[in-house]
Amino acid sequence: MKEIKVVIMGGGGVGKSALTVQFVRNVFVSTYDPTIEDTYRKPVIIDGQQYLVEILDTAGTEQFMALKELYMKSGQGFILVFSLTQLGSVNELGPLREQIVRVKNAKVPLVLVGNKSDLRAERQVPREIGTNMSRAWGNVPYYETSARKRINVDEVFADIVRQCRAFEMLN
Ligand code: GDP
Ligand code: MG
Repeated sequence: MKEIKVVIMGGGGVGKSALTVQFVRNVFVSTYDPTIEDTYRKPVIIDGQQYLVEILDTAGTEQFMALKELYMKSGQGFILVFSLTQLGSVNELGPLREQIVRVKNAKVPLVLVGNKSDLRAERQVPREIGTNMSRAWGNVPYYETSARKRINVDEVFADIVRQCRAFEMLN
């Protein structure tokens, strides 16, 4: 089975772990432990082809820059997450992407995600901010997700797998 290594990154509390666990185990984790960093694996069939998706759910607690760069190097695809309920979480993604581009290159498979779409009353980030950022980053796909309601979760992971597959065919 073809293995695809995905790294999920973003600010604390935006829902990286909730999205990952919802994708892998089909449950919503309502508790928040900002320190948990773990690797998950899920076999999937996408476009009739089997893949083993390995997800590194980061906590951003790396003490050493070199460690972060190491897992960026080994990652094939990246999911960058902010929270639609927290305007400040958008700003954390620019520097992260710059670092990814430096370690990999500008054409690295990447998906931009605005999570917590179910919390409509608490929304702080209009869709245009996401779509503008996606355009500024060379039209990376942008999804609005809810880990809680399982909205667009499979779509995000299928997108990154497809991008990784296309990337590999070109390189
Ligand atoms: P992480 O630090 O990015 O891994 O954030 P977590 O996945 O631990 O989520 C932080 C908190 O937000 C937890 O209490 C989650 O249950 C909650 N959360 C995550 N995703 C969603 C979502 O889509 N909707 C709602 N309502 N809460 C969410
Ligand atoms: Mg987490």
